[in-house]
Amino acid sequence: VSVDCSRSNVVVDAAGLFAGVNLSYPVVYTVEQVTEEVLDERSRRGVELALASGKLVVTQASENFRRRVMEVARKLGVLYELSKADLEVLALAYYVKERCGSAILYTDDTLVQNVAISLGIAIEGLKYPSRTRVRRYVYVCKACGYRSAKPGECPRCGNKLQLELST
Ligand SMILES: [Zn+2]
Repeated sequence: VSVDCSRSNVVVDAAGLFAGVNLSYPVVYTVEQVTEEVLDERSRRGVELALASGKLVVTQASENFRRRVMEVARKLGVLYELSKADLEVLALAYYVKERCGSAILYTDDTLVQNVAISLGIAIEGLKYPSRTRVRRYVYVCKACGYRSAKPGECPRCGNKLQLELST
């Protein structure tokens, strides 16, 4: 993992790359899966320039950080909502936090923000203001009220379970 704490503790997801967060810092970190999400040509070129100039570093956290992220996501009820890119970028932000003492994650995804807060990672929203409270989620059947930790169909009435804030 090539993280230089003296230069930066900033991690970005795809929304962060689109917003050009990397232009405001000497260097920012992200993961392979996030760069793969940047598909339009103009943003692609921006990412390639940033990579070439060393202002964007693509790296990856080790397995134990990924495992801890999944554990927290499961506890909050959002594990099945997170993509591989979400999990990887959270693991990297968690690694940076552990290594550098603090980390900032730029993301607009409220579920990613939720897990990040729970791990002690500071978050910066791009389009929307960031929340600071951790919230738990659960899958609920709107028809009969059946609650589950996993997505899918209601075993009682077959309706699709929907993610909801847990009370
Ligand atoms: Zn039901």
